[in-house]
Amino acid sequence: MQQIVTYGDPVLETRAEPVTEFNEELAAFCEEMFVTLKRERGIGLAAPQVGVSKRVFVTDADGDRPRIFINPEIVMTSPELVEYEEGCLSFPGLYFMVKRSGALRVQAFNEKGRPFTLEAEGMLARVILHEYDHLDGKLFVDRISPLRKQRALLHYGRLVKM
Ligand SMILES: [Zn+2]
Repeated sequence: MQQIVTYGDPVLETRAEPVTEFNEELAAFCEEMFVTLKRERGIGLAAPQVGVSKRVFVTDADGDRPRIFINPEIVMTSPELVEYEEGCLSFPGLYFMVKRSGALRVQAFNEKGRPFTLEAEGMLARVILHEYDHLDGKLFVDRISPLRKQRALLHYGRLVKM
């Protein structure tokens, strides 16, 4: 069973490595990520969040089907930013308003190594951008002001001490 890695583990702040082999092991890993995502009631999960520093994430956003993104590249983002509340499975109990592009185009590979391009907006775009950040070792607390981040991490520190 995959365990969720929470804030403080260096894997969350490390740039993940590209996938080089598309094999059964990779497909099984992706399947397991969906199991974990469902168990944790999330809508997106990146491999570093289960301790695997690889460029893989999965999404299962409302109104969309489950999707696998391997070695993704965000090739376009819309200039207008949208602010919306986000949570992260690696920061249990913390939610912040985060500004992100409202729409994007992403290129990635599926678990069989087949390339695809996807245009997304709304919640799906937000989830993709949040999960993509995880692959670069960036966290949603890096997307808010330093003061708010400091307060948030203090709050988180209190949460974990309890
Ligand atoms: Zn997250």
